[in-house]
Amino acid sequence: MTRLVYGFGGGRAEGRGGQKDLLGGKGAGLAEMTRLGLPVPAGFTIVTDCCELYAAGGKWPPGLEKQVRAAVARLERTCRKRLGDPKDPLLVSVRSGAARSMPGMMETILNLGLNDRSVEGLAALTKNPRFAFDAYRRFITMFGATAKGIPREEFDAELKALKRGRADAELAADELRALVQRFLALYRGRVGAAFPQDPWIQLVDSVNAVFGSWMAEKAVTYRRVEKIAGLRGTAVNIVQMVYGNMGDDSGTGVAFTRDPNTGENSFYGDYLVNAQGEDVVAGIRTPLKLAALEKQQPRIYRQLCDVKRRLERHYREMQDIEFTVERGTLYMLQCRTGKRSPAATFRIAQDLVKEKLISKEDALQRIGPADIERLFYPVIDPKISRSDLVSRKIAEGINAVPGAATGAVVFSAKEAEAAEGRKVILVRRETSPEDVGGMHAAQGILTATGGKTSHAAVVARGWAKCCIVGCAVLDIDYEKRLMKVGDTTVRQGDVVTLDGGTGEVFTGEFPLVQPQLPEAFRTVMGWADAVRRLKVRANADTPYDARKAVELGAEGIGLCRTEHMFFDTEERRLAIQEMILADTVPARVAALAKLEPFQRADFEGIFEAMDGKPVTIRLIDPPLHEFVPHDREGQEKLAHTLGIPAEKVERRVAQLHEANPMLGHRGCRLCITYPEILDMQVRAIIQAAINVKKRGIRVFPEIMHPLVMDAKELRILERRTRKVADEVLKGAKIAYTVGTMIEVPRAAITADRIAEVAEFFSFGTNDLTQMSMGLSRDDAGRFLPDYVSADRAAVFAEDPFQAIDEEGVGALVRWTVERGRATRKGMKMGVCGEHGGEARSVKFFHRVGLDYVSCSPYRVPIARLAAAQAVVEEKRK
Ligand code: ADP
Ligand code: MG
Ligand code: MG
Repeated sequence: MTRLVYGFGGGRAEGRGGQKDLLGGKGAGLAEMTRLGLPVPAGFTIVTDCCELYAAGGKWPPGLEKQVRAAVARLERTCRKRLGDPKDPLLVSVRSGAARSMPGMMETILNLGLNDRSVEGLAALTKNPRFAFDAYRRFITMFGATAKGIPREEFDAELKALKRGRADAELAADELRALVQRFLALYRGRVGAAFPQDPWIQLVDSVNAVFGSWMAEKAVTYRRVEKIAGLRGTAVNIVQMVYGNMGDDSGTGVAFTRDPNTGENSFYGDYLVNAQGEDVVAGIRTPLKLAALEKQQPRIYRQLCDVKRRLERHYREMQDIEFTVERGTLYMLQCRTGKRSPAATFRIAQDLVKEKLISKEDALQRIGPADIERLFYPVIDPKISRSDLVSRKIAEGINAVPGAATGAVVFSAKEAEAAEGRKVILVRRETSPEDVGGMHAAQGILTATGGKTSHAAVVARGWAKCCIVGCAVLDIDYEKRLMKVGDTTVRQGDVVTLDGGTGEVFTGEFPLVQPQLPEAFRTVMGWADAVRRLKVRANADTPYDARKAVELGAEGIGLCRTEHMFFDTEERRLAIQEMILADTVPARVAALAKLEPFQRADFEGIFEAMDGKPVTIRLIDPPLHEFVPHDREGQEKLAHTLGIPAEKVERRVAQLHEANPMLGHRGCRLCITYPEILDMQVRAIIQAAINVKKRGIRVFPEIMHPLVMDAKELRILERRTRKVADEVLKGAKIAYTVGTMIEVPRAAITADRIAEVAEFFSFGTNDLTQMSMGLSRDDAGRFLPDYVSADRAAVFAEDPFQAIDEEGVGALVRWTVERGRATRKGMKMGVCGEHGGEARSVKFFHRVGLDYVSCSPYRVPIARLAAAQAVVEEKRK
């Protein structure tokens, strides 16, 4: 019979840490901690498949009841207590836990096993009726809310009425006993039946409630936002209760084994004295720092440090842990890989290598494209003086997630979601899992309560989204949609700026800039560079972009689009327009002559910035109609400036109209028709190279013809290119090459012939994808979503314009590489489409043997990392 239940704790575990898919992350962690000899309360895990089967069939799969009953009996033996025992009851928690962590998205029920009789037994046995009734009222709340759908607020309202402003700890036992009676009445009123006294019924209903929480709307939304797919459901963990709420020598905590913001190797966490676990996570009370625990309970602190060390040695990774202290004894309740800021990702990877816990290759595998992207997230412009900041500072909270954000205040997640492009800051007393949609939409998040491990902080950190929590001075009025902060009133729609790095809140907008990159980033990227074979270039059209690209590690320019230079100033635009309107070759040549000095100067700037690195320059590419005005007013203005009749401009624009410009007069076809354009561009390139070389800078221009479809076509262009270049060179030596883009399927198919002419290939994978699939990339947005989804039934798993379609377009690339190199041995080949900066595609280009990828400058580090990962993955296979 298939095993559906795995036991753990009490010194032995049936499962292990590697079985996350089966046991869920929590179950796997509990099993593994047991194996490590850490103090884990006993329990068992119901596997994730059961959730899927329950959702499909509406009942437990065959065999589950028998196995759960057996596991309960075994647990009772291990704990030497029985569920529902009127004298000394065993209590358990029923906890969700899927293979991927979904913080706070699913349900957990604590203190199960209490009923009207066993609560008295627990009170007598512990001589602590306060504790017993507190546990019972929590159980009724969680069971009522989770299993029976009673709004939690109704229980909270009763509790609040009883507390009248007092802290939980100030409630007397009798008051709690009376509260339990009220809760039971509330339950009966809502459910129409008495609160179940039979622990087995409590257990079955709770397990089903946890199964059900997998499909709850908030959980489904979270999975959609986080792109989590292909999981079976949640596992259910039944765990013997340990009590953090038994007095001042008890408590509960959440910690990271290293600082999740900076990555520094220091113990980082929150601890609440005399409380049950959910209190910390919910951020209800503002907790103690872990450092304070060191003073209050040094023995426990030392024990925790030992746990930290053992877990890190074992997992070789920073861990996020939950623990409870019951009368001075430590229990581990959870461990998982800790979420961290991008800066911390690099710092931790680097430090773990230095501590010899992982290899450099491991470190590289642990970093993702998003970690790099997020490093470039904004901070408040450091040029803003401190006094300017202070003059507009209204509050300071806990700096939960760094990065800055500015936007209009909204007080509900719904309104944040409705913002659509407008920048908003979500302000809440606290956030709850229902708020994730709005949290995602907001630029930043500000809450009045909670610590660094509160829901808001954990969720925001995962997205590297600026977040400040525990900002107690905010007096938020949801109804009036405003908050009072001291004597300032901030209304919905007022702009504020958050500094997640310091926790400060300012009124008004401050300019944001990109931060300094952390030192560990350079170190780790250095390791990537040492490993990778694929070179990384950048697409850059200006000296500014070229310098930026070099700064980010580019080893050349893979695509310099010359036409961007034509749009740069009015004067240039006019010259190109004049060229287009010219009727005769001499008139066209004259107009081009005006452009030539601009192009030459631009190329000089780029060559200079690249300082000896290769630069691939693409000759004119877009259809000419993109350069001329299409509206009456623009045409008249142009006619006036050029001193020609407006009708002439109009006629020419009409002539340029194409039914299907994507497949029209563009790319190298322009230079076939108007070779004067080629002449001017090649002259400018070669002359610039000569000028720069005179200044002692080495130059390697690679002249590239776009959109070629045939070898003979390229031959015409190549002959003319060399003729013009050689005329300019007059015997001077510049090592230039002539090559082509591969972006038309016919060019790919006839690559062997084209390679007879071209010295290099550069795959223009945007056009190649568009033309191979017959999809206009400018219009595909309308229907591509119907084709692309993580769902297995979808046609494509990823947008083919973002990640290369390996099966189709990729096959053409592979073919081209083989055929091209069969003709020209060792022929240089690269990619200059968007795909060159997308990690998965970069790995593919490595595997097919390209020499380099080229992408926009800020994606260069992503490509460098992916290229290194490709080597590591190859080795490990
Ligand atoms: P989540 O996945 O939302 O963190 P958990 O299952 O970890 O949910 O439980 C919520 C809280 O209850 C946690 O703080 C945890 O430490 C606490 N908790 C869960 N099981 C037990 C137990 N057996 N004894 C004591 N506290 C528990
Ligand atoms: Mg937990
Ligand atoms: Mg193209």
